[in-house]
Amino acid sequence: MKRFFAILLTLALLASSLALSACGGDKVTLNVIDDNVRNWYEIFVYSFYDTDNDGIGDLNGVTAKLDYIKEMGFNGIWLMPIHPSPTYHKYDVTDYYSIHPDYGTLEDFKTLVDEAHKRGIRVIIDLVVNHTSDSHPWFTEACSYIRKNGEPGGAYGDFYNFRVTDNNAYHDVMGTKYSYEGQFWSGMPDLNLNSENVREEIKRIMSFWLTEYDVDGFRLDAVTSYYTGDLQGNIDFLSWLNTEAKRIKPQAYIVGEAWVGSDYTIDRYYESGCDSFFLFTGAQAGGTVATAVKQCSGKAIGQLFVSLKETYGDAVLAPFLGNHDTMRPGSFMPGMDNVKMAAGVLSMMNGGVFVYYGEEIGMISKGGNNSDPAKRIAMKWEAKNIYEGCCYLPPENTPVDASSYYYPSVAEQAEDADSILNYYKKAMELRNRFPSIARGTVTYYPEGQNNYICVITKEYQAEKITIVFNMDSFEQTVTLDKDTLGYNKLVGELYAAGGEFSFDASGALVMPPQSIAIFK
Ligand code: CA
Repeated sequence: MKRFFAILLTLALLASSLALSACGGDKVTLNVIDDNVRNWYEIFVYSFYDTDNDGIGDLNGVTAKLDYIKEMGFNGIWLMPIHPSPTYHKYDVTDYYSIHPDYGTLEDFKTLVDEAHKRGIRVIIDLVVNHTSDSHPWFTEACSYIRKNGEPGGAYGDFYNFRVTDNNAYHDVMGTKYSYEGQFWSGMPDLNLNSENVREEIKRIMSFWLTEYDVDGFRLDAVTSYYTGDLQGNIDFLSWLNTEAKRIKPQAYIVGEAWVGSDYTIDRYYESGCDSFFLFTGAQAGGTVATAVKQCSGKAIGQLFVSLKETYGDAVLAPFLGNHDTMRPGSFMPGMDNVKMAAGVLSMMNGGVFVYYGEEIGMISKGGNNSDPAKRIAMKWEAKNIYEGCCYLPPENTPVDASSYYYPSVAEQAEDADSILNYYKKAMELRNRFPSIARGTVTYYPEGQNNYICVITKEYQAEKITIVFNMDSFEQTVTLDKDTLGYNKLVGELYAAGGEFSFDASGALVMPPQSIAIFK
């Protein structure tokens, strides 16, 4: 009997050593913490992957690509709205309790969430409660009531803001003296978030998805428009929503879209208790990350880390470079090396990073175009016949063609060790290896370094790492004070422009252009 167990043990040891040597010899130990600080991947289902050849991406397409998502090192996905809606983007909902038929069924959604969870991937969905579609039954019934009775009333009479007013944000209820609030446009009537009936519905909607479909949280659309111009009103409502969400599922992750250009205001929103708010100050062509990369400024990176720590303290940041409303880094970062370097800086930031689908292959806005559909084109999975298994450009379903892309497809980039895709993959892997990248307390060491270099440490529980950035487009030699920084060896490397780290005769680190080194 003893001998039998000894053989089993030997076999088990053999199996584990085989597993370690299976991926090229380098032993990589991941250390993904079971919390909501994730490497999030934002997906526009419409343009991601089509499994039934109608030219429109679907939930089964997302499920089909979960292995890819996991392989890339993403461990959370944010799905843009999936509910029935008259528009291609679906940010105006007509039924919060079902799935748009183009995208699939509730059953497909259940499968997607189950399969994601099996792979350690969390799923959050867009929750759009600032407004509904003007064809939502709540709204059409509320308007019919006014037409019949001359005054708002009935089951949905207080769901919207009906007034007799000339205010620009109000639109006529045809055939009556009343208007309704619609901050974005007439097709998106604003909900009356003071209404107890509306709040009961929001609780039901959150409970439906969090409990019956096991989603892991919500991305809240347009929170600054909840009470337009009333910051405290928005914070108070978010506080209510967050409390109710956590009552339903304590571990739910809530991230809000407060699209403002000030860290002070974004930080104020954290008073609501919601987990995160997108770090708009870091995003887009003029954001802190892209600017520092374009200026080759290590000093700007160091100051960014310091100022984020001072402003936000321990809050879970949600940094990103681009999303479905903005240009993509492939469009606004000049050249592949800069696209990679922006991703490198993003990946070293605290909090849960958000990457918009296609960003990892340097996708651009179609034709350099600033229209919304141009920012939401089909994911380029393969080089040949990009229509196959793919989707068409919304909203008119015009086919996308090769000129809509600047960098190669996923399939091609996967084969190229120096591709943008493989850079993102390495960057996300570093985040999955060192929890302190996303969670550590930052210290900046500017002493003795030139403007191209940034040296920081991050400490989280027992882990302390040193991150060194060479932001210059030329090689730089950096002397690191091992005693102060307290590291033993080089454990992580990111090269935006190729090359390799080496040490000169004095032991100083020679860094290739636009590179990031991690020591532990
Ligand atoms: Ca489809």
